[in-house]
Parts: sequence; structure tokens; C-alpha cells
Amino acid sequence: MCELPAVLDVITRNARRKHICCECGCTIERGELYDAIAGCWDGAWLHHKQCLECARAMIVAAGYCSQWELNSGGGPWYGGVWEWWRERDLVPPEIAKMRGWKAKR
Ligand SMILES: [Zn+2]
Repeated sequence: MCELPAVLDVITRNARRKHICCECGCTIERGELYDAIAGCWDGAWLHHKQCLECARAMIVAAGYCSQWELNSGGGPWYGGVWEWWRERDLVPPEIAKMRGWKAKR
């Protein structure tokens, strides 16, 4: 799945121009808040942008993982948070509602 980055920096920014969310593909309009992620995986820097809804889905996902899962690559990955949630047996109502899914408990 995904390895933990050697370096990770997440900053919430106010968009100066339009961006595309790397998770859901929506347009982050000028003036909207979004998360800018910079991380170094295997020596290569990668940059991602997430709308705040997808950023929230990532935070909730990380909270559902044990430290073992996170360390062993079983946690959510940038660009695949919704795929990660789709594979879960349990999807909390907050997350299901974001995608129009039925919550799995
Ligand atoms: Zn998004």
C-alpha cells in the first residue's frame, strides 16, 4: 500500500488560484482553503493538494488505523484515501455521508 514518508509537511492554505484535489478531483476555487502536502518517499519529493473534505477523510482514516497498520503500510495513502475507505469493513457515517455511501458499521 503506502510507506511512511521520511519527511512530511502539511499546510492549510488559502488558494490564490484554482487547484485540483488529488483525491476527489474537485476544483479548489480561488479563495478556498485546502491542504498542501509535501512529502519525501524513497528520496523523491511528491506534492499533493486536498480539498478540506478529503483532508478530513484522511485525518479520520489515520485515526482508525493502529500504529502497526500505519508503520506497515496499511494506512491511507495520498491520492487514494477514498479507495482506502472503500476497502474498509467499517465506514463511519461522517465519511459515508461525504460520498453519498451507506455507512457500514
Ligand atoms: Zn477532494
